[in-house]
This record gives sequence, C-alpha cells and structure tokens, in this order.
Amino acid sequence: MLSLRYFGDPILRKRAKAIEKVDEETRQIVAEMAKVMKQQRGIGLAAPQVGLSIRLFISRIDKETNEGEIIPGELLVFINPRLSEPSIQEDVMKEGCLSIPGIREEVWRPEEITVEALDINGEPFKKRFSGLQARCIMHENDHLNGALFIDRITIRARTRIEQPLRAIKKKYK
Ligand SMILES: [Zn+2]
Repeated sequence: MLSLRYFGDPILRKRAKAIEKVDEETRQIVAEMAKVMKQQRGIGLAAPQVGLSIRLFISRIDKETNEGEIIPGELLVFINPRLSEPSIQEDVMKEGCLSIPGIREEVWRPEEITVEALDINGEPFKKRFSGLQARCIMHENDHLNGALFIDRITIRARTRIEQPLRAIKKKYK
C-alpha cells in the first residue's frame, strides 16, 4: 500500500518525471492512489504525495443532490498533463492538501483551465475544466512541479501558518 508523504518530505519539492509508457503498472498505481484518496477523503491526489516522482494525478469530486444524496463522481486520471489557456477571470477559495493536514488558506486561481493529458489507457485527450474541478487540477498539477498551495498564499497567511507548518514537519519526520 502506498503511504502519504507530508510537508517536509523532499519528494514534494521535486519536479516529477514524465511517464514513458502507460501500462499495467501505471494502472496499478492509479488503483492504489484511488484507494488512498478515498481513505483520506480527498478530491485529488498527485503521485509525489505517495512517494512517486512521476507526472500523474487523479481526481474524484462527488456531487450532492438537493436531497443530500451523494453521487460518486467519475475518477479522472491525468498522465503527463499540460495545462494551458487559463481564464483571465480568477476565483478565490480556501484550499487544503492531504500532505499538509489541518491547514486551509485562500488561494486565487483561474476559474477555467484546459488540460491535455493521457488517460488511464494511454490515450491522449484535451478538455476544458471549470470551478472546483479546475482548481483541483491546478493544485494537483502544482505537485508535479514541486509546488504547494502554501506557495500561493499571502505573506500574511504564510506567516500565520509558519508554526503549524513546522509542527507538521516535526511530526512526520
Ligand atoms: Zn495537495
């Protein structure tokens, strides 16, 4: 079972490598990652967060009906993703990260983004995303470049979370 890596782990600051071939091993990794994401109740997970420095992330956003019924979302898989055409319109929302437990801060991001990637079968696709799904994609894609959402918050917010960040580093060392 893959285990979650936390803030302070150097792998989270590395630029991940492209996947050369999408094969059975890749599909196994995706299945394992989906398990970890579900267990941790996340909406997205990038491979470096489970100790694999490869360009792959997944996302699943469940929907809730007006009656409060939860409809499981589709598992989206992005391999060697390339993001482009960010909308000029930006939007702010509090973000968290499974690798930085307990911390949530406001992050500004474009409202829409286009992604070109390979799917779980190695087939290329291109799609435009908006709202929470777009935000999640941009957050996860940052992980592939060694970036974290706390790099995108105000200096004031960063100062405020300095202590909790140090505590996370210490706890998971
Ligand atoms: Zn994250």
